[in-house]
Amino acid sequence: MVACLRLSHKITVQANLVALALLCLCVLTSKLDAKEIAKAVENPELKSAVTLYDAGRNWAALPILQRATESTPEDYQSWLYLARVFQNIGKLDKAVASYDKYLALAPKGEERDKYLAFMDVLKSQLASKKKAVASKAPGEYLSLVTPNGVFKWAREKMPITVFIGSGSKVPGYSTDFDEAFRSALDEWEMKSNGLVTFKIVDSPDKSDMDVTWTDNLHSKALSAEAGNTSIICGAQGILKARMTLLTIDPFERGRARGKRQLRNICLHEIGHALGLNGHSGYPEDIMHSQLIVQDGVSPRDLNTLKMLYSESTKPE
Ligand SMILES: [Zn+2]
Repeated sequence: MVACLRLSHKITVQANLVALALLCLCVLTSKLDAKEIAKAVENPELKSAVTLYDAGRNWAALPILQRATESTPEDYQSWLYLARVFQNIGKLDKAVASYDKYLALAPKGEERDKYLAFMDVLKSQLASKKKAVASKAPGEYLSLVTPNGVFKWAREKMPITVFIGSGSKVPGYSTDFDEAFRSALDEWEMKSNGLVTFKIVDSPDKSDMDVTWTDNLHSKALSAEAGNTSIICGAQGILKARMTLLTIDPFERGRARGKRQLRNICLHEIGHALGLNGHSGYPEDIMHSQLIVQDGVSPRDLNTLKMLYSESTKPE
């Protein structure tokens, strides 16, 4: 028997314990040189993408560059920017494929030679990343995240529609939050091999999942917490998920959060919204109750999600 249920989760972040380990896959170079920018902005289709890229908004620039490379596939500058965006968001395989396109189209010269040499570095990074992922120990914690029963999105609900509210009027908010949230959705989708999929929509009326931002440390639901997610379930599974994320750090009296910490908070809350209704006992998992040492969704988080979404794990 399944009635309408409402579940709630909170997450505590000990900001003073946040580890200093940083992902260093995408820091080789961050900006294109002035000559390249001048060439790119001659193409009006690229202008807005370049502006977003320069502002560090890789996720916002991505769909524009994908459209540009589809509409004018012979424009090597579009491929170069697309490659750099993929590199910056850690999608090395797609970065390599886009650099290949750029190299095939770009005129011979010093600039092209620079990227040709850089491809070797990128390819070796890609190989070592694949090896590292394969060597991590498996495991799962399904029983810890189903203490009140099994709750998940039905297959036919995919892609889950997501509305990301604007926080532009909320103190502490920056576009980094929007980038972090989009990046976190993509990480769950990619790492789960499409077991869960998302589609960003422009209105909360059409959404299955929404996120809003607040700086209210005294809100009852958020007191000393970084995020709060509630889900509403029906007979077919989860019907709606609502997330509220704090734009400022409760432990640092209004200080803005770091990008890595933001992404981890988003990943964790999305995990709850997907039905991981509890916390892992392992500190390196994104579903651990304290976000201290995590570096994204772990193999154990993924195994748990796969078990939850397998046909044999049924709502009771
Ligand atoms: Zn939590």
